[in-house]
Order: sequence, then C-alpha cells, then structure tokens
Amino acid sequence: MRVLITGAAGFLGSHLADRLLADGYEVVGMDNFITGSPDNIAHLTGHPGWSFHRHDVTNFIYVAGPLDGVLHFASPASPRDYLELPIQTLKVGSLGTHKALGLALAKQARFLIASTSEVYGDPLVHPQPEAYWGNVNPVGPRGVYDEAKRFAEAMTMAYHRFHGVDTRIVRIFNTYGPRMRPRDGRVVSNFIVQALLGEPLTVYGDGGQSRSFCYVDDLVDGIVRLFERGTAEPTNIGNPVEFTVRQLAGEVLRQTGSASRIVQEPLPVDDPKVRQPDITRARSLLGWEPKVPLAEGLERTIAYFRTKVA
Ligand code: NAD
Ligand code: UDP
Repeated sequence: MRVLITGAAGFLGSHLADRLLADGYEVVGMDNFITGSPDNIAHLTGHPGWSFHRHDVTNFIYVAGPLDGVLHFASPASPRDYLELPIQTLKVGSLGTHKALGLALAKQARFLIASTSEVYGDPLVHPQPEAYWGNVNPVGPRGVYDEAKRFAEAMTMAYHRFHGVDTRIVRIFNTYGPRMRPRDGRVVSNFIVQALLGEPLTVYGDGGQSRSFCYVDDLVDGIVRLFERGTAEPTNIGNPVEFTVRQLAGEVLRQTGSASRIVQEPLPVDDPKVRQPDITRARSLLGWEPKVPLAEGLERTIAYFRTKVA
C-alpha cells in the first residue's frame, strides 16, 4: 500500500506517517510548512518507505507512480493559526480538498479527509452524534475554518456519489500530544508551556466551557481503522471524557508542580461552550475506543514540552 499524506509535517500528519510506516505502508508526505515543521519529519529521512515533497496543495498535485490512498490533513488547525491565516485556511479546505480528491480519482485511490468537530459549531445537541448538522456562524471569525471543512465534507461526498471514489470523513475532536507547537495557541500546549515557564495560565472566559481531549496515539489508531475498514459516512473520533477548561488548567498545574497563577482573558468570539463526541459509530463500526486517560496523556505531553521549553 502506497499513500499520500498532505499536511505530513504537522502534528497529526507526522504521527500518522509514523504509524503507517510502522505498519508497512509506503508513505509520500507533502507539506508547505505554513504551520508545520521539518523537525516533525526529520527522523524519517532515509527511511526506505518514506519520501517527501514540499508543495502547496491548493495548486495541482503531482505524484509519480501508483497510490492506494490519499489522506488529506493539510490545514491550519489551531484557532490562533486559522484566524491569522483566514484565506489560506479557506483555500486549503476548498481548493486543496478538490485537488486531493482529483488525485485520488485519477489514481483510483481511497480518500480520507481530516474533518473536525468544528463542523458542529457551537453545538445545540450534546454530546454530538454524526447525524447532528451543527450550529455554525458562517460569517464569524471561526467561519473560515468551519465552513472550509463543511465544504470539504460536501466535496468529498460529491466525489463519492458522482465519481464513485471510496471516501472516508473523520471528524476529529480536540487532540493533543508531542509535536504540537509550543506557541500554537491551543489550550493544552498553551497551559503546559505557561506552567513550565512559570507564566500565568490564560483561561479564556470563566473557564466553564468544556472540551473532550483525545491523546494522539488513540486518535491515529481510530483513523487507521476508519481508513482500512470504515465507510463513507462521517465518523467521530475523539475521547468522550469531558473536562472544563478550568479543570484542565488545574490538572496541568498539579502535574507540572508549577506555581503559576490562573488569569482570565476574554472569551474568543463564537467559542463553543461544550464539546463531546458521541462515538457510538466508531465503537460499533471499528471496534475502536480511546485508551489513554487525560492524566496519562498529559504526563507524556508534558515530558515532551520539557525538552522543548524548560
Ligand atoms: P498542524 O497545523 O500541526 O498541521 C497541518 C499541516 O498542514 C501543517 O504541517 C501545515 O504546514 C500543512 N498545510 C497547511 N496548509 C497547507 C497547504 N496549502 N499545502 C500543504 N500543506 C499545508 O495541525 P494538526 O493539528 O496536525 O491538524 C491536521 C489536520 O487535522 C487538519 O486538517 C485539522 O483541521 C485536522 N484536525 C485537527 C484537530 C486537532 O485537535 N489537532 C482537530 C480537528 C481536526
Ligand atoms: N482556551 C483557553 N486558554 C488558552 C487557549 C484556549 O482558555 O490559552 C480555551 C478556548 O477558549 C476554548 C478551549 O480552551 O474554549 C479550547 O481551545 P483550543 O484553541 O485548544 O481549541 P478549540 O476547541 O476552541 O478549537
């Protein structure tokens, strides 16, 4: 099996490349480093199954030779990144998805799109099953990401229905782990870095909003199962154990032993108040569920960040 991963130098793309190479796949990585880093894939240099192309996937994608799969992970993913890169985010979700689907069609390859829990917006149904259509503000600042991903899902289904491409849609819920950028703005990386440096932990709003955090190894395992034996129906992959942002801050302070204070900052516009995946489909279809509890995943992630910032 030979697959292309777009966004391969990012947090998730690089872990997915590691896993697929370990499983015996040949992996072609592609990235333009807009939010990713060569450091995330440096260890793969010289691996016989690995090759890499620096390329912006909003332009025509050329890959020589056969491909059995195209896994489209390229996109800014942290709210801070996509608010700073609104046009690039819209382009990679729309034009990039179109190019990646065109490549999958030409190569008769299976296609998987990395979608997101953000397609549910600020959800009015809790927890969120795949059948929920969401509550998204198209013209708010987060619309650039949410609508790009919703368009990407629609385009994926069109290639499935019209061209018969074998497709997968994974709706990824908040995932954390080693190789997140220390200053990418996401809550887990922010809190850990702030705690390790003795800076105040920045809780946005009153910290009562919730998220459900999935450790990266669990997520990658769910994605590989979906790719190998899933269906075209969108599938939530995430850890359903829900925490408030304030609880997360407390756990990070406890585990790091940091004396940092907690400070309150304004809540970003349209910040979802709750988020928890309903993973009934992944459980029954893929026999998948997350195994790494937050305390254990944080321990591994804190150990990584100590080597980066402390
Ligand atoms: P990331 O920013 O670490 O990785 C994204 C990668 O895509 C980066 O390496 C970036 O350089 C690359 N990229 C962006 N635009 C590109 C372009 N036009 N051409 C080529 N490469 C491009 O983010 P991540 O957390 O690894 O997210 C990966 C994917 O998973 C994204 O599609 C994101 O929307 C999705 N996702 C992630 C999460 C999460 O919690 N991490 C949650 C939901 C969805
Ligand atoms: N958040 C926070 N402090 C930070 C970063 C984020 O309180 O330093 C909050 C943010 O407002 C949101 C939650 O943590 O309610 C998760 O934010 P993140 O950017 O990680 O991802 P999101 O789930 O919003 O896409």
